Amino acid sequence: MATQLLFPTLVYAARLRNWRAVNARLLRECRQLRADDLAGRRWSARNYPGGYTSYGSAHRMQERSPTFAALGHALGQHVTAFTRALQLDMSGRKLTMTDCWVNIMGRGGAHGLHLHPLSTVSGTYYVRAPNGVPHIKFEDPRLDRFMAAPPRKLDARTRNRAWITVPARAGHVLLFESWLRHEVTPNLADAERVSVSFNYNWF
Ligand code: FE
Repeated sequence: MATQLLFPTLVYAARLRNWRAVNARLLRECRQLRADDLAGRRWSARNYPGGYTSYGSAHRMQERSPTFAALGHALGQHVTAFTRALQLDMSGRKLTMTDCWVNIMGRGGAHGLHLHPLSTVSGTYYVRAPNGVPHIKFEDPRLDRFMAAPPRKLDARTRNRAWITVPARAGHVLLFESWLRHEVTPNLADAERVSVSFNYNWF
C-alpha cells in the first residue's frame, strides 16, 4: 500500500451524557428566548428567513443562562478530545467558549454555506432533530483548487467525497475546525429543528 492519507479534515461526533434531561431544559429555554428576544426576531427576519437565531442578539448564552453554561461545561471534555485527535499543541493555551447561540429552523428555513471566522473550533449541539429535518453538509476545503479534477464516483468512499452530509441527531454534538465550510439545506419538514452553535478560541 503506497498511497498515504495526508491533510485529513477531522469532524468529531459524540452523544452527550444525560442528553434527554439536558435537551428538555434547553428546548424550553430556546423557545422562551425566541419569545422574549424581539431584537433577535427582527434580526432573523432579515438574515435568517424561516427561522429564529440569537446569533445577532444573544450570542453569549453561556454567560446568560445556567442551562447553557452547563452545556458548555459538558462540551468541554469533547472539545479536549477533539484537540487531542487534531494533535494541537495546547501547552500553555486553553480553548474557551467565546460564543454560544440558538438556532430554530422552521419549515423553509435554511442556513447558507459559511465558516466561523476568528475561531479555532466550532460546533453544533442538537436539541431537537425530528425525522425529515435537514442535516449538516460539509464542503471539501480544497474545492477551489480542484481545477481539472474529474467528478468523484457516486459510490466513492466518504473520505474521498467533495461534500459530506452528517446527520443531525438530538443529543449529539458535532465539532470541526472553524475554517471548514458547511451549510444546512432548507427544512422541508413541518417540524422545528433546534440546535445550539458555538465557537471556541484560545486567544
Ligand atoms: Fe455554522
